[in-house]
Formats: sequence, structure tokens, C-alpha cells
Amino acid sequence: MLYHDLETHSPEERQARQWQAIRTLLKKAAKGSGEFRTRLDRAGLTLRDLDSLTAFSALPPLRKKELISLQAERGLDWLLTCKPGKLRRIYQSPGPIFDPEGAQADYWGWAEGFFAAGFRSGDLVQMTFSYHLTPAGLMLEEPLRAIGCAVIPAGPGNTEVQVELMRRLPVTGFVGMASYLKVIGEKARSLGLDLRTDLSIRTAFVAAERLPEALRLEVEELFGCTVRQGYGTADVGCIAYECEQPRGMHLSSRAYVEICDPATGQPLPLGETGEVVVTPFTREYPLLRFATGDLSSLIEAPCPCGRTSLRLDGIKGRADDTAKVKGQFIYPAQAAQVAAQFPQIAAWQIVISNPGGKDRIAVRLALSGGIDAGAFQAAFQALLKLKPEVQVLPADGLAQDARRLVDERSF
Ligand SMILES: [Zn+2]
Repeated sequence: MLYHDLETHSPEERQARQWQAIRTLLKKAAKGSGEFRTRLDRAGLTLRDLDSLTAFSALPPLRKKELISLQAERGLDWLLTCKPGKLRRIYQSPGPIFDPEGAQADYWGWAEGFFAAGFRSGDLVQMTFSYHLTPAGLMLEEPLRAIGCAVIPAGPGNTEVQVELMRRLPVTGFVGMASYLKVIGEKARSLGLDLRTDLSIRTAFVAAERLPEALRLEVEELFGCTVRQGYGTADVGCIAYECEQPRGMHLSSRAYVEICDPATGQPLPLGETGEVVVTPFTREYPLLRFATGDLSSLIEAPCPCGRTSLRLDGIKGRADDTAKVKGQFIYPAQAAQVAAQFPQIAAWQIVISNPGGKDRIAVRLALSGGIDAGAFQAAFQALLKLKPEVQVLPADGLAQDARRLVDERSF
């Protein structure tokens, strides 16, 4: 069952709709947003140059740190296409950064994701994200209301109260951080409750932190519920969400998502790892080509759930935690996958240098046993496309929290 028919569009239908939404947005932004007009000017572009979905990618991305400084220096008005008093709400997130909310229904676009996670009309949902100043609680409550769920605005903390609410009311849904749901579960157990018979949690929607599979399984087992995650930011709202098949996250129909080279901001071939650049179809605060700083890649294979949107293959790290060597991006998260194949590796670190102006990549390995350096190099090269030098250190030769990527190059 799907939330709406946009989720089964053909690629052509989807692109046509995306371009229509972006064209409307571009016109609105060109009229109202000083930020957008300045960005166009600086890039030597006019609105006429952005005349297709492909041409749209010529617009340089807007980075979060630019957004923070623009808001501080030019004021929020500079970025809006309406007067602040015409908005519905203005939140503030750490940064500090203002997050304006426009008047359209389901402004942050989470309803589709909640529905995919299994929330239905008649569910009673306990919301444990904060309602104070940051958008989290309200941003996620309104789509639940749109689906027809009732919401308990519990907010974070007061774990005993959370348990009491779940015990006394027929709470079927949870929204919050997976790690917090685990804390609630452990508290309930310590109070002598049987989580599967004394409580009725059936579906949990989690966000705001990395979700290790082990934690998902642990919480699912603890409560006898399903745990699904959504991915988005306080600036743009929903970007992607999991369906009942927890492999990858479907791109939301309410935004246009590109995977880009973090250095140039240009889209990469399908399947390659790069930065998530998102354009939500929201008009009051147009964030055209907003660079999230998160790294991912797209899964093209169709999903058994029937949704035809592409899926993000998890979040693989941060774009600022990468370096380009010989035309290839080095992602510590990918190196971690390689290191995991060798149990003798106690700790590791990638060091990039450029003696004599020539890039060199080395991996320092703190080893608790012997290792076949050639096998490590081959596994590294298979995933990261570069063959590193291997420097062997004793098991305690590197701190566990040592930086994974050290760029010693001078330019
Ligand atoms: Zn699916």
C-alpha cells in the first residue's frame, strides 16, 4: 500500500514532474530570493541558462555554512520569497540557523516516509523529539496528523514518564532516536514490564543518528516491533526513507536529489559515491541545490515494495571527511569496510602526502597478528580504486580514536 501514486511514476513521469516543480521554484526564487539572484550572478548564469533538469545542475550548490553566514549577515529575508510574517513557523537549530516553515500542507514532506514505515490512521504515536525551538517534534508531528494518527507530544527525556505513557495508553507507534527507544525499553524491563505483552508498540520511526543494524535488530527484538528510518535535515526536511524492505532509503517525491562530486558540485554517474545535494519543492524558502555534506550513492535496482524511486544506499560519511587523490575520492567509511575483512587490524589510518608534488597514499595498520599486505592492498584497491603503501605498526601503535584520514599534502 502506498501513500500516493507519485511513488510508482515511471522515470520519465518522475523527471517531468521534477522539472516542472523546479521551473516553478526557479521563477519564484528569481523574483523573491536575493540569495538565489546573487548565486546566479556569481556563477555568470541567467535564469534562461537553467532551462532543463540537466542544465539546472550548473547552478553551484549552496552549503550549510554559507546558509549560516548569509542568515547572519544579510538576514533571513534575503533568503525568503515571502515576508517572515507569512510563514507558518520559524524554528532555530544549532548553528545557529533559522529554519522557516511555509504554509503548504506537510511542508517538510515526511508523510510519505511515515506511511512507508507502516504508520496508519488510528495509530497512537509517542513523539520523543523536542518541540522546543528546533523543528524536530512539530516537523514530524504534522505528517502523522495528516495520515490520521493521534500524537502524544512527549518530547525527549523523563524516561519513567515515557514508560508510564506506553503502559497506560495503547501506544502503537514511536518516533525518536533508536538509541532512546532502547533506553526506554531497558527502563521498562527494569520496572518489571514485559515489553511485548504489557506494551503495544508496533512501529518505530527513527532518525537523527546513524542506525547500526545491530541496534535496529536489538530494538525490534526487545519490543516486537519494526524499526524504520528516515533521512533528512532541519533545513530541507525529508530526503529519503525506508520502506518495509530495509535496504536503502527511497528518495522522497517532494524533492530532487543529486549525488555530486563534493569538489565541483556536479552530478556523478549513477551508482558512484558522492555528496547528497537536494532541492526540496518548497517555495517560501527556496534551497536550490542544497549540499548536505552527507555522502551516499544511489541504488538503481527496483525495490520489491513496488515504489519506483531510486534508493540512497545509506549514509557513508561526511563530504568534508574526504580527500581527492589521483582523481579518486578517499572515503574513510569505505576503508573501514576493507579493514573489517582483516580481524588482525586493531586500528588503521590513511595518510596522504605529496613528496615532490606527487600524491602518495599510505595506510598505517596497527596489527595484533600477521597480515598479507598484498591481500590488504588488493582489497583496498578493489573498493577505493587506489593501491596504498602499507605501513605496519604494533597493535598499540595507533589510538582507537586516531583520525582515519590525515591529509599531509601541501599545495
Ligand atoms: Zn521499497
